[in-house]
Amino acid sequence: MTVELRNVANPATAPDTIARPLDWQDQALCARPDADPDWWAADGKTTDATRAVQWCHACPVRQQCLEDAMRREGNAREHHRQGVWGGLTPFGRRALYVARKQADAA
Ligand code: SF4
Repeated sequence: MTVELRNVANPATAPDTIARPLDWQDQALCARPDADPDWWAADGKTTDATRAVQWCHACPVRQQCLEDAMRREGNAREHHRQGVWGGLTPFGRRALYVARKQADAA
């Protein structure tokens, strides 16, 4: 096996390990200073989650956010999904996953 050694002293060749926001995230309504991050951390069964869903439905990047969550979560069960993303609670995203799988199989 060949291991490629990189010159980490030279930023032009150093591996890029810095996490950066996705390009659509700067338009996210939940990133606004008047948004309380706790609303989106809710399990989907609280008043806070309802508020988060309402904000998401007005968000210009809702579809990108939802698809990113669906890609990251894959086939995870509801209880392994966290928070509100793309306007859907963990239950809603699991239901969407199942519906898409059924549509693909049809
Ligand atoms: S859809 Fe909701 S969770 Fe996603 S970026 Fe917009 S406000 Fe945030």
